[in-house]
Amino acid sequence: MLADNLDIGVQLSGRSQEPDQIIIHTPDLCQDCGALLSNSLPTASTRQQVFDISDGRVKVTEHRVEAKLCAKCGTRTKAAFPASVRAPVQVSPEQKVWTEPLAKLLLQIKRRVAATRQQQEAELTQRAIHCSIR
Ligand SMILES: [Zn+2]
Repeated sequence: MLADNLDIGVQLSGRSQEPDQIIIHTPDLCQDCGALLSNSLPTASTRQQVFDISDGRVKVTEHRVEAKLCAKCGTRTKAAFPASVRAPVQVSPEQKVWTEPLAKLLLQIKRRVAATRQQQEAELTQRAIHCSIR
């Protein structure tokens, strides 16, 4: 059963093992003291993928966000994902234009099927009670 707040069509089930493009976001300056981090090696990396199907084939762009330790003050600074990249796996904002209405329609159909099934079960139960009373 789908939850009412489930953003279906926007969240996908899994990551691609072979993204078409990898974009690395790295912090330039320490968030605490402002020192340059260009000589620091990344300590961690988080990734999120965007799926796009606009040209007829699936194109996967992986965004990797790095964290670095400041050599001067020891503060850990993490770069940010672009504002449009908000989930571990998602479709591109352009795709949402047509996937969201479809996802809402699918949700409505599933709710209607569930309601009809519930009504049929209630009617069958009523008939069974009616037959056993006779
Ligand atoms: Zn620092």
